[in-house]
Amino acid sequence: MNPASFTRRQFCKTTTLAAASLPFFNVPTAKAGQPGKKLGFALVGLGSLSTNQIAPALQTTQYCHLAGIVTGTPAKAVKWKQQYDIPDKNIYNYDTLEQMADNPDIDVVYVVTPNALHAESTIKAAKAGKHVLCEKPMEISVEKCEQMIAACKQAGRQLAIGYRLHFEPNNLECVRLARSKMWGDLKMIDAGFGFPIGDPTQWRLKKSLAGGGCLMDVGIYALQATRYLSGEEPVSVSAISTVTDPVKFKEVEESITWQLEFPSGLLAKCAASYRFPGMEGFTAYAESGWWKLDPAYGYSGISGQRSDGQTIDLGHIDQFAAEMDNFAHCIIANQPTSVSGEEGLRDVKIMMAIYEAARTGKAIDLT
Ligand code: NAD
Repeated sequence: MNPASFTRRQFCKTTTLAAASLPFFNVPTAKAGQPGKKLGFALVGLGSLSTNQIAPALQTTQYCHLAGIVTGTPAKAVKWKQQYDIPDKNIYNYDTLEQMADNPDIDVVYVVTPNALHAESTIKAAKAGKHVLCEKPMEISVEKCEQMIAACKQAGRQLAIGYRLHFEPNNLECVRLARSKMWGDLKMIDAGFGFPIGDPTQWRLKKSLAGGGCLMDVGIYALQATRYLSGEEPVSVSAISTVTDPVKFKEVEESITWQLEFPSGLLAKCAASYRFPGMEGFTAYAESGWWKLDPAYGYSGISGQRSDGQTIDLGHIDQFAAEMDNFAHCIIANQPTSVSGEEGLRDVKIMMAIYEAARTGKAIDLT
């Protein structure tokens, strides 16, 4: 299918996962009493993801727009101010973030910093009375995730995690195939994600900033796939991790495999790596058929096959625009987000158990 021919109607038909919890396409287009006004988003951390994906997506969104920035680099502030016409009063640094409390232009703070800095900005934004969208992984410990949830709850503001694939039509179609039991009960899922990581000095290889290695960064997509395909929570996990380049990977794991058992008897075998390319998909096996996406997790080019010979190719959307519009809709309509802080916390709890399983060599009970 030609991505350009992928229509809003087709997207609507495929958004099972999002639509299961909220009517995404019957949305109000404005804040109550302010016809046509979009919610203002402020981006915290103007690195690769903000620059190349999120800010461009915010030029296309229907229910939100780029209103402000938070950066520790004055030169970036100058560049972004010019490029996106951002007024000086909407430009903050990490120390002044809480002053947003006095700024009605900003409704939502989108946290796009290294993993271990998510809690700090989330809590400051909540204290300033802002809703928060936080990138994955939610944080590097269960305690910090719980603090983020508590801060947003206390402020009466919503917290969402940047799980963009919950809005991606091909992943949603795979969820539909699982839930409709087209080929019977799901029996096994095989999921993995990896890439050869470059610059040895980057924060992703530092435990204090990343929390872990390939599992926290990309393995989380494989873990998420097992949970959204099955709709179940794992009850036990075992794992093995390896390092073959101890100079580069002196603080975090280089490659890791883990196995999950689910209440129905479903098994998942998963892997993540920072060492080699090509592992970017999942296969779901049911009693009498299978379906797969490969690649499954990219910003575009997602497609797959089914055991009956059909292809899965529902085209391309801007997942970041869909994710932000969905969150804006939830805020406008006062409905809970389907990608909540609690959802992010569940993954962090399981990832901590995966590390414990790899460290101890024992299966960890998740019940
Ligand atoms: P990046 O390194 O390109 O950008 C990080 C930003 O944080 C930079 O602007 C940097 O200046 C700033 N920063 C503030 N304090 C810092 C510190 N102490 N050390 C290093 N940088 C600091 O990273 P990125 O690729 O933009 O990733 C940011 C977040 O987004 C991460 O949590 C990552 O997991 C997530 N991410 C999500 C996706 C997705 O598809 N959803 C893709 C990439 C990254």
